[in-house]
Amino acid sequence: MLSDAAAKGSIKGVAAIRGGTRINHLLFDDDCVIFSKASKEEWLTIHDLLLLYEVSSGQKLNRQKTAILFSSNTSEIIKREVAVVAGDVICGDYDLKVSSLIFEDLHCWNESLVGDMLSREEAALICSNALGKSMVGECSNKEVQKQIWEGVWRLNVPNPTKQFVWKSLKSILPTRQNLVQRKLIEDATCPICQRGEETICHVLWSCPTASDVWAESGSGLQKWPSEEKDFYVLWSEMQTRLQQSKLEEVSMILRGLWTRRNMMFFESKFDSPRKVLNVAMTSLQSFQEARAALNNLKGSHVQIRKNIKWKPPDEGVSKVNFDAAIDKNNFKLGLGIVARNHVGEVLFTFSSTKQFSGNSDLAEAAVLWRAMELVLELDVRLVVFEGDADRVIKGVTEVGGNYAWMEQQYANICGRLLLRPDWSVSFIHREGNCVAHALAKRALSMEGEWCWIEDEPSEITSIIARDLSCSNEGS
Ligand SMILES: [Zn+2]
Repeated sequence: MLSDAAAKGSIKGVAAIRGGTRINHLLFDDDCVIFSKASKEEWLTIHDLLLLYEVSSGQKLNRQKTAILFSSNTSEIIKREVAVVAGDVICGDYDLKVSSLIFEDLHCWNESLVGDMLSREEAALICSNALGKSMVGECSNKEVQKQIWEGVWRLNVPNPTKQFVWKSLKSILPTRQNLVQRKLIEDATCPICQRGEETICHVLWSCPTASDVWAESGSGLQKWPSEEKDFYVLWSEMQTRLQQSKLEEVSMILRGLWTRRNMMFFESKFDSPRKVLNVAMTSLQSFQEARAALNNLKGSHVQIRKNIKWKPPDEGVSKVNFDAAIDKNNFKLGLGIVARNHVGEVLFTFSSTKQFSGNSDLAEAAVLWRAMELVLELDVRLVVFEGDADRVIKGVTEVGGNYAWMEQQYANICGRLLLRPDWSVSFIHREGNCVAHALAKRALSMEGEWCWIEDEPSEITSIIARDLSCSNEGS
């Protein structure tokens, strides 16, 4: 509510540094401090917001414990004006300025003081603001964030690695600490070292087993303090101080550390630092070589239409193609889903119809969601979901885009993806998505839901065979 009011300009908040990020409130364990300009108008706005909060939450503001404090340069007239409209709320003088939370000459936050006053996440958020600010000058927090996302997106690394860094930055990796927060487990202790909570920064940085990897990496990072901090802060330091190519290596290693941690859970083996580094470096190298080769070909005007033909997934992986078909006149949505293994054998086909009014993005997102549900029901592991809806695929895999009205759908899907490190989503051209397309079309002429396990409706067989012969030609 406060942020909304600030966005509309009806409350102004205060800036810690002239021209810097404006803050309108700080939340403590049980207390909330709201900052505003000393004026009758702003007080009335805040007063209305507090009333609205009381009415909608059913909680009551403790007026005995609520006080308005003025900074020392507020005029007596204004103090009186506010005191009159504030009624039973006590008015007094306010001495702790926000500026005491920062080291003014250093242009940075007094992190220990902020840390004492706020929860770890809040403190990290606040301190990362100023960190960005001190480094890029007059940048607002939003711009700093945008630069960070764009920096991640510019990395010349495989998409799953970018997605991984993004999830780490968003604090949404299923670490033990995150699972405890969601009340899914009770013990947040790092399962590898048994020392300290397993936060994102712990797994990727401060865990002694992670430090070992950084020590061997020769990335220069081994000299950085291995202390526990917010991963967002750590990454923004890396992004500021490391060259792009180093940052690419680092992001591969970060993902490698997470993969190793998961392997310990699922396969009970734990790779040596050398192995983690070797895998990270060789896969980065082969990715970048392949990409460079592709760019060269493009440069010589050879037309490459990549990702056009359907290709079987890697061994052990299942590929799930999905597509939607809409019948606008009858408000119907047809869902088509097909799962195949590394030799192109059908694991299942699925065709279903439901009532629907919405656009194609919403339809495609709905089918992807259904595909995920099916995969969960049938307990398929290591899945790549492949669809031809460019915007939807971007919406769930990329960051920084403006997908406001689809945000909730994408967030739901992302939420599922991050609980399943063995799933990914990728794009395929329409030509490579014929089977799912045919299943979706077919669905429009029927009712209900059909699932064929290791089989398909007869009219689809030839399309599946065509996919397979195309993919053989290509290899
Ligand atoms: Zn540990």
